[in-house]
Formats: sequence, C-alpha cells, structure tokens
Amino acid sequence: MWVTDETGIVMGKALRLCGQKFGRLSVGPRGPNSTSGKARWICKCDCGKYTLSSSGDLASGEAKSCGCVRRYHSGSQHPQWRGGRTRHLNGYILLLEPGHLNAFKRGYVFEHVKVMGGLLDRPLTKGETVHHKNGIRDDNRPENLELWASRHGPGQRVSDLAVYAKEILQKYDPQPLASNVGYTPVFGRPPLYASGNS
Ligand SMILES: [Zn+2]
Repeated sequence: MWVTDETGIVMGKALRLCGQKFGRLSVGPRGPNSTSGKARWICKCDCGKYTLSSSGDLASGEAKSCGCVRRYHSGSQHPQWRGGRTRHLNGYILLLEPGHLNAFKRGYVFEHVKVMGGLLDRPLTKGETVHHKNGIRDDNRPENLELWASRHGPGQRVSDLAVYAKEILQKYDPQPLASNVGYTPVFGRPPLYASGNS
C-alpha cells in the first residue's frame, strides 16, 4: 500500500507517509534527498535517534530502525543475553569483560581469576593460577579459591611459598622480617593476605 514512486514527491503519498510507522521508525517531515536523488524522510526511531529513510526503503521493509535493531542482536542487546556469563567446555565460568586486565582477546575472563584479582586488588600475573579447593570448577566463592604460583612444574600453594620465603629470610636475612623495611609491593596488597581472612 505504501509503495511509492522513485521521486517520492507526490503530495498525497508524502502526506500519507508522514505519521506512519515502519518497524521502529515513525516517519516525520520530508528531509533532504539522497545523493542519488531519492526522496527521504526524517524518521524517528523508537530508540530516540533520527535517521533519513527513502520511501522505497520504508515501503519495502528495508528500513525498520535507525540501525539499532542490528546492534540489539549482539552482546548485551541480544535476546539470549545471559549477562555475559557463560560456561567454558572445561567447566569454568567465563565473564564477558573486555576491560579486565586478565581478559583474553575475545574479552572473556575466567570468573575465578576475576574473583581472585578482586581479593588481591590487582590482576593476576604470569605464572599465577587459581585453584578450586573443593575441585568444583564453577564454585567461585572467595573461600573456595586459592592462589597458586608456578614458574616451572605444576606450582605451589602461595601460602606455602610465603612460609618458605619467611624461613629463608629467617635463616639468611632476618632484617626485613623484623622491620618490614624493604618490602615494596609491585602493586596491590601482597598475595599473602588474599586467602581466608580478608
Ligand atoms: Zn534506533
């Protein structure tokens, strides 16, 4: 019914287009022609943006929104959006947080890594891993997580490493332990305080 001529300047049709709704677009007054000379209408999208659409695009159903509908079908606007939370095949929980310093290229970060990072007040560094104490990979309660560090081999419990480090210092250089002088964290709190009673 709204098929129009190419110029779109027939008054009757122009008046009938104005005030009509096509998809998310409400047609308003006539706007500037396209570079190819097609008549265009100033349309207000449901999202609040204005856009120019030709009569033909409106009539054929080509123009249904300012472009936001396509955008609605990715990421947080997708109908099946689950808060960016998904389960990796290996059983761990992934969160979509492109800004996180431990995120992979696609913007996902393991939830247990994020939780541990929050406890440490810093991102995890190379060689650090997070161990699930009870073996349940999606149980990311802080009390179930333990920071491990490895340089070679499977790694060691950080609290064990800290005890070991203190033993070494006690034996060879007790001064820093006595005064705490000389301890300069690279960033955040030392991992020693991460688990348990924080
Ligand atoms: Zn829109």
